[in-house]
Amino acid sequence: MTLPIDPSHVLIGGTWRPTDETLPLHDPSDGSEIARIARGGAAEIDAAVTAAQAALDGEWGRTTAVERGRILARLGRIVADNVELLAETEAHDVGKPLKQARADALALARYCEFYGGAADKVHGATIPYLDGYTVYTLREPHGVTGHIVPWNYPMQIIGRSVGAALAMGNACVLKPAEDACLTALLFAHFAQQAGLPGGALNVVPGLGAEAGAALSGHPGLHHISFTGSVATGAAVQIAAGANVVPVTLELGGKSPQIVFEDADLGAALPFLVNAGLQNAGQTCSASSRILVHASLFDTLAARMAQAYGAKRIGRAIDDADLGPLINPTQKARVERYLGLGADLPVIARIEPGADLPENGSYVPACLFGPVPPDHALAQEEIFGPVQVMIPFETEDEALRIANGTEYGLVASIWTRDGARQMRLARKVRSGQVFINNYGAGGGVELPFGGVGKSGHGREKGFEALYGFSTLKTVAAYHG
Ligand code: NAD
Repeated sequence: MTLPIDPSHVLIGGTWRPTDETLPLHDPSDGSEIARIARGGAAEIDAAVTAAQAALDGEWGRTTAVERGRILARLGRIVADNVELLAETEAHDVGKPLKQARADALALARYCEFYGGAADKVHGATIPYLDGYTVYTLREPHGVTGHIVPWNYPMQIIGRSVGAALAMGNACVLKPAEDACLTALLFAHFAQQAGLPGGALNVVPGLGAEAGAALSGHPGLHHISFTGSVATGAAVQIAAGANVVPVTLELGGKSPQIVFEDADLGAALPFLVNAGLQNAGQTCSASSRILVHASLFDTLAARMAQAYGAKRIGRAIDDADLGPLINPTQKARVERYLGLGADLPVIARIEPGADLPENGSYVPACLFGPVPPDHALAQEEIFGPVQVMIPFETEDEALRIANGTEYGLVASIWTRDGARQMRLARKVRSGQVFINNYGAGGGVELPFGGVGKSGHGREKGFEALYGFSTLKTVAAYHG
């Protein structure tokens, strides 16, 4: 893996610079150190926020919407030309199997294309008002936006938040995760090549408690977007709240797929399995609960077991179906949950190969069922390749179970009954509901976000452009 940038540098105001201290970055497939990254802290965050504000007061602030769109479109093409570099880097950095890493890189290119095309299409409105007045609204950038990104989908999350923020003319300070920040740095490098003015995108890797906390509590910030755990999201919201800074939180879920007795099982099967095992289950929208009509339980369990049996766990760079988890902490967390499931019936369990590197963070993939809906494995976000199957008898019971966690991010309904599709799509407590599919091909265009402990605010799609802007009302009296 040869990178065109020095990964131990931060990017502030268009200049790459080192920090006093660095942090090690490990390949989760074998535990080896692959790079040293910057240990940005309060000083770098302060400099980055200042540089972002200077960009807004300077060239970036004067850049027209159409030109912002062109820069993003160019950036998308550069990203697309570098998919292999990005995918290989992500495979080593995140432990993400190559095919899945390639899909993330292509999604990043697509976000740039989508938000590049949308940049000059966000309009205000005119409002009929009192005699002698003309009233209109202006969509304006917040100003300096903070972006705290986790390690599970760095490219996609950067694409959906930074892409939309830049489209609306904000200047961004990006704090990638300490476990995975190389593709964030590559993205910033490509943005420079695409002609993004210095300071419009600043990148400061570092620890959450240092760089992340400094960013979320910075008084110079005007908006912050956070993706990650509930506990950290709450801390970010409190820190930003002290400065009355608006926050978008995307915090994960316990997303159900509900399989009714008339479902097309052949069509559902790949979605039921892959939505749970993709990225080794380290996905905020992972489908970790499968609610199935009791009459189908045994049939579906047998088919799921067969599909699990075809999956292979291995090194990311060898493009296994499931790679390792991001780090030993996440491995220990998932192993604890597997321990909590020790008394549950196991439908399928795939072990990592004995030949895998000892220091890789591999865990078995496991499907449990039947699992009581109130069991910890059916309630808590595990963030690993663990799914539970829960039988139900009636539509009401299915709905009760589906809505019976603290989360509400994504859900799917598998049934041929059109009335039931419409009824449940309304009643399921979730930010997204899919009918006879799950995830809809990634859905760059589809607004995304949660309710309850899954968070608030929406990213992706056109909706994100409203989130990354603020509305000014102008009332002119002319008589
Ligand atoms: P985390 O929420 O602590 O980290 C996410 C990001 O927040 C990282 O960039 C991190 O540096 C930063 N951060 C950490 N502490 C911070 C603070 N005090 N202030 C500001 N930023 C801070 O997540 P984690 O510890 O890496 O993973 C733990 C659990 O979080 C996982 O098991 C999973 O359940 C959940 N998670 C969810 C997502 C998601 O996509 N929703 C992503 C990653 C992790």
